[in-house]
Amino acid sequence: MGIMQDYIEEAERDLLHTYNRYQVVFDHGDGVRLYDLNGKDYLDFVSGIGVFALGYGNKEYNEAVKSQVDKILHTSNYYYNVPAIEAAKAIKKVSGMDRVFFTNSGAEAVEGALKTARKYAYLKDGKTDHEIIAMNHSFHGRTFGALSVTGTPKYREAFQPMIGNIKFAELNDIESVKALVNEKTCAILFETVQGEGGIHPAEEAFIKEVRKICDENDILMMLDEIQCGMGRTGEYYAWQRFGIKPDVMTSAKALGCGVPVGAFMMTEKVGQNSLVAGDHGTTYGGNPLGGAAIVEVFRQFEERKITDHVKEVGQYLYEKLEEVARAHDDIKDHRGVGLLQGLEFDHPVAEIINKALDKGLVLINAGTDIIRFIPPLVIEKSDVDEMIDILNSCL
Ligand SMILES: *Cc1c(COP(=O)(O)O)cnc(C)c1O
Repeated sequence: MGIMQDYIEEAERDLLHTYNRYQVVFDHGDGVRLYDLNGKDYLDFVSGIGVFALGYGNKEYNEAVKSQVDKILHTSNYYYNVPAIEAAKAIKKVSGMDRVFFTNSGAEAVEGALKTARKYAYLKDGKTDHEIIAMNHSFHGRTFGALSVTGTPKYREAFQPMIGNIKFAELNDIESVKALVNEKTCAILFETVQGEGGIHPAEEAFIKEVRKICDENDILMMLDEIQCGMGRTGEYYAWQRFGIKPDVMTSAKALGCGVPVGAFMMTEKVGQNSLVAGDHGTTYGGNPLGGAAIVEVFRQFEERKITDHVKEVGQYLYEKLEEVARAHDDIKDHRGVGLLQGLEFDHPVAEIINKALDKGLVLINAGTDIIRFIPPLVIEKSDVDEMIDILNSCL
């Protein structure tokens, strides 16, 4: 424990305590395994919360990033750079979106989406009192705009007032959405699969009804795919399972697979009728390093047929977790899709997660009572088997 304990104590002295961290210092990784400072290895079912989709120590990815480091790291958005252009092309190809704005994080992507919605509505009627409908139990990030649409009151409480004119409906309850729609509504925003809020997938009927409401009233349908996108559900983006398309969407986390990047994307119609030069910007967003990472991520996704792989291993994980759920009375529910699944217990799960960590398995919660399974997308069935064995020994 020695050296690790020393660093942990230092961290607790020097870093602002905004996280209750697990008592481990990770040092390096290889594939789906993490190693702490003492060299102990762990099977990773968290992937840095959905970031390291392609696994650790990925040589081709590392080379792509390193060669960009040697070339140039940053220019400015006042100039063009090839990696950002190629990255936008790659995103457009798999998403069917038309216009891309690169950010450095998920929260910033959400901020951009919110500004897009307000500007789109402003250009129509010149008014400045538009409303956005978001969902209870949602999570969109920690900046003020993103926090304002995050449907967990305890995250917002101490920081009031939030940005105005946000209303909350219930995911998968279309009547609760309809009750809030009026002539001021400019956007309906939700995660296609709620992540932090407890792994709640939006249902097909709900998504299609929202699409209809948005079409009929010229309201923007905005989907947050920061956690559930990038192959996690077995499609590039979770909404692609339903034959609809959002007007605006956000991406981050696995978009860069380690290099911090995000993006918000929109259809051509929204692009032509919202943000223009001078409306929005970022110093780092769209820098060559992030662009090079994104290009390499999409290259590997395609080459390794990641979405097919996720469909197969995700189904296997689903079956195995069903068996676990059936065998334990304190497990209330099992839900999720692809490699984003959750087991809901009738008690807090922190103790189980700590036990698992002790036994070399990295798990994470989503809320106090839910264990979230969000492994690297390159995980194999044998890794699922190993995870299930350790999990069972902790229950
Ligand atoms: C993580 C997350 C965010 C925030 O992303 P950051 O990069 O932490 O700012 C937003 N929305 C969803 C759905 C997320 O999971």
